[in-house]
Amino acid sequence: MSSPLTYSTFDSIQDSVSYLRVNFDTGKARPLSFRKLQIQQLYDLVKDNEERIYEALAKDMNKPRSEALSGDIAPVLEECLYFLDNLDRLAKEEKVKPRLGMHAMDTVKVRRDPLGVVLIIGCWNYPVQLSLVPLVGAIAAGNAVVLKLSEISSYTAALLTELIPRYLNNALYRVVNGAVEETTFLLTQKFDHIFYTGSPNVGKIVMAAASKHLTGVTLELGGKSPAVITEDADIQLVANRIAFGKFYNCGQICIAVDYVLCPAARLDEFTNAFRKTIKEWFGENPKNSKDYARLVSVRHVDRIAGIIENRKSGGIVFGGDVDRDSRYIAPTLITDVKFNDDVLMGEEIFGPVLPVITYNNLDEAITLIKKNPPPLVLYIFSKKQKLIEQVLQNTQSGGVCVNDTLMHQAEYALPFGGVGNSGVGNYHGHRSFNTFTHERAILQKKQKLEFINKVRYPPYNSSRDAILRNFMVTHPYIVYLKRNRGPIKTILILIFLFLVYLKKRA
Ligand code: NAD
Repeated sequence: MSSPLTYSTFDSIQDSVSYLRVNFDTGKARPLSFRKLQIQQLYDLVKDNEERIYEALAKDMNKPRSEALSGDIAPVLEECLYFLDNLDRLAKEEKVKPRLGMHAMDTVKVRRDPLGVVLIIGCWNYPVQLSLVPLVGAIAAGNAVVLKLSEISSYTAALLTELIPRYLNNALYRVVNGAVEETTFLLTQKFDHIFYTGSPNVGKIVMAAASKHLTGVTLELGGKSPAVITEDADIQLVANRIAFGKFYNCGQICIAVDYVLCPAARLDEFTNAFRKTIKEWFGENPKNSKDYARLVSVRHVDRIAGIIENRKSGGIVFGGDVDRDSRYIAPTLITDVKFNDDVLMGEEIFGPVLPVITYNNLDEAITLIKKNPPPLVLYIFSKKQKLIEQVLQNTQSGGVCVNDTLMHQAEYALPFGGVGNSGVGNYHGHRSFNTFTHERAILQKKQKLEFINKVRYPPYNSSRDAILRNFMVTHPYIVYLKRNRGPIKTILILIFLFLVYLKKRA
C-alpha cells in the first residue's frame, strides 16, 4: 500500500526554518496570552479529532482504542490543561536572594526566556504523545517549532500534517515530513535546541549534527530495561503487571520490560502465572483479540522474527508464531535464556518477546543489570523495602518503577528521561518548560552608592582586599551559626564578630 504521507522537499524545509527564524525574532511567540491561545488550540485539535486519531493509530499499528487513549490522547490533553493552569506561575521572573553581601541592595533575578527556533523529532510508537507533548512544552516556553513527525507511523503523521496548520499559528509552528534523507538535511540547519525521541544510534547522529552549531539537545532514547523479581514477590500480581509492561502496544514502547530476572526457585510459578494472564487477556489465540496491537512495519516483524529464530539460548514456553502479512507476532515467553546470548540480549527487543533469565541471589541479578549501560527504566518487584533499597543503591537507570510497569511514565509530576546511553535531559510538566527555556540571569544595580564599589576598583590594597573578602566569602562563623542555631551561641558569635569589626576599624 502506498504511503499516505508526502515528504517535504529540501527547499521547503529550508524555507520553513528561515521563515520561523524571522517570525520568532518579531517576538510574536512570547506573550503569555498568545502561548495560551496556541495551547488551547492544540487541546482543541486533539479533542475535536479524537476519532480520526484513533483511526489513524489503528491503521498504523492496530493500536487498541484503550491504549491509544491512555498512551496518546490523554497525555496530550492533560499536558495542555496543565500548562493552561500553570503557565503564568512557571513563566514568572524568579527573584533570587543574593549570596554576595555586596549585592544585598540590588535586584537579582532569573528571567525565563525562550530558546528560539527548536526542532522536535517525534517517534512512531506513540506518534501523538511523543510529538505533541514536547510541542506543548516548547510553545509554553515561547519558542518557534519545527516538528518532524515520524514517517514510520505514516497515517498518524499524515493526519497531524493536515490538522496542525489548521489549528496552530503557521508563522511559528511548522511540520516537516520525511525519512532518513530529509532528516539528515533537516539536521544541517541551525536550531536553538533539538529534542529527539528514538534509538540511541540515531541519537548519536542527532548529537553530532547539533554539535556543529553548538546546539543543545534533549535525547529521549531507549535500552534494555529489566524487571527484577525478588524471592518474596506475589507472582500472579507480578505476572499481570509485567505482561502489561510487555504487550502494551505489542511491546513497541521504550519503557517495555525488555527482560526478566527471576529467582530460579520461582521460575515455574512465574511461567504458569504468565501463561494464565495471557490466556485471560487475549484468549486462546491472541491473533483474534481486538486488544492486541500489530507491529508497525514488516521490517520490524522480520527483525523480531529473526531474534526468535536466531537466538542462541532459551526455549519458547508459549508464542513464537509470526504472520508477516498481518504484521502479527504472538506474545512470546522464552525461558532459560543466557545473559551472554547476543541475539536475545544484545539490542533492545522493542516487540512482544520476553526473555527470562534466572538467578540464585540478588547480588547476582544486580551484577547482570550492571553489565548493560543504564536502562531507561528499572522495574523492581518486591514487598521488602530492604531488597528494593539494595537494588536501587547498586544500580543506575533513567527512572524506576517499583511493583508496577509503565505507570511511572504516565505520572507527569515525575521527570521522564534516561541517563547515559538511555538519554540526555528529561521532560513532562514543568520540566518540559525548563527544557525549552533559557534561564537568563539578571543582576540589576542602581546608579548610586558608588563608594561601596570602590573596594573592587584599583588601586588595590590589603585593607580593601580584607573588606572585599568579607563581601565575597561567607564568614565560616556564619555558616557555623546557621548549622548550630543555639541562641546563646548566636549572640556570643555576633558579639565576637562585632568586636573584630571594631578592632579593624580602630
Ligand atoms: P529511530 O531512532 O531509528 O528513528 C527515528 C527517526 O529518526 C526516523 O523516523 C527517521 O526520520 C530518523 N532517522 C532514522 N535514521 C536516521 C539517520 N541515519 N539519520 C538521520 N535521521 C534518521 O527510531 P526507532 O529505532 O524506530 O525507534 C525505536 C527506538 O526509540 C527504541 O530504542 C526506543 O526505546 C526509542 N524510544 C524512546 C522513547 C523515549 O521516550 N525515551 C520513546 C519511543 C521510542
